[in-house]
Amino acid sequence: MKVIIIRYSEIHLKGNNREFFESALVSNIKTVLRDFQYEFSRSNARYVIRNFDETRLEDMIDAIKNVFGVHSLSVAEEVPSDLKFISAAAVNIAPVSGTFKVNTNRADKRFPMTSMQVSAEVGGDILQAHPDLKVDLYEPDNVVSVDIRENGKTFVYADTIKAVNGMPVGTGGKGVVMLSGGIDSPVAAYMMAKRGMTLRAIHFHSFPYTSMQAKQKVLDLARIVKKYALHLTVDVVRFTEIQTAIHEKCPEEYMITIMRRFMMRIAERIARMHGAGAVITGESLGQVASQTLESITSTNSVATIPVFRPLIGFDKDEIIEIAQKIGTFETSILPYEDCCTIFLPKRPVTKPRIENVLKVESALNVSALIDEALANVETITV
Ligand code: ATP
Ligand code: MG
Repeated sequence: MKVIIIRYSEIHLKGNNREFFESALVSNIKTVLRDFQYEFSRSNARYVIRNFDETRLEDMIDAIKNVFGVHSLSVAEEVPSDLKFISAAAVNIAPVSGTFKVNTNRADKRFPMTSMQVSAEVGGDILQAHPDLKVDLYEPDNVVSVDIRENGKTFVYADTIKAVNGMPVGTGGKGVVMLSGGIDSPVAAYMMAKRGMTLRAIHFHSFPYTSMQAKQKVLDLARIVKKYALHLTVDVVRFTEIQTAIHEKCPEEYMITIMRRFMMRIAERIARMHGAGAVITGESLGQVASQTLESITSTNSVATIPVFRPLIGFDKDEIIEIAQKIGTFETSILPYEDCCTIFLPKRPVTKPRIENVLKVESALNVSALIDEALANVETITV
């Protein structure tokens, strides 16, 4: 019978953490497999999936390998622990050319042969069936694994599929990610989910200056991020009035600086409302005027909870590479305007001094504007 073996990395499993980590991981695996029929079991330091529809094997593998906390998977044949069955399965899945070796693990000490003897016998049978193969014990192209379990069953498998690793979502606290329609913020969301954070997203839009398609694009991005983050609700905040107020009352070169401070304050308020302990942005040092150290200082100084910027040290190329890998890139580059692009100053300040920022901002009724924006949040489940 074909089974799927799921391994997780054990570094996180010290002491009391084990049950916490495992129950999150199991529940997340079951979430991504909700549309499949299967049997799930735990057996020391791994999970085994049996009795599934083999025509859907690839889809199941794709779903599981993107669950954070999963280290690797193998599709194995599960056979009775009897050399004749083990060998037949091994011959069946062995490569037909190149070099190989057989690796045997014997957890069942009642099995009458040593692991060395099993490897030698099975290797011999494989060689007989595929005369073009060669054995290489040190740097084989392929490894055929034989895992003799205590329960009288043996797993035989040829490849190990690498999964995403990371920490299970739900084990790293809660964060609110500021999600624009750009390339960076969906990647930032992915990175924090990878460290086990449960995410909520917040998007600022400036209807009617920005279109409904621009908002839809963000929801589409959120849906892709949700594949990894597993749960994702988007709070859409109407930013038009705030931007109009800044435009009217503040010098144009401070537009972005002040806008960012409003975004951060609102994100923090929403984070606190939902018990989240961090705000996440897609900023990368020096990428644009609003991401110099001085600009980040100005934005950061209104925050009283941690702000995580997982892309701070990444080059654009590196961010794009991840965006392509996780499938957000094609949507991110669709040409819709972002709220940051309206009232855009010709020469934004790149090194805002905090005294000047405070002076400029004092022309506005900050808390009233924020309360009004928060009173009109549209919450969307993607
Ligand atoms: P991105 O590719 O994520 O849009 P960017 O390089 O365009 O980033 P900025 O536009 O300066 O950079 O935005 C910096 C960060 O501020 C974004 O990564 C995002 O976290 C947040 N942000 C910007 N605009 C919005 C928005 N309209 N709604 C929510 N968050 C936003
Ligand atoms: Mg942007």
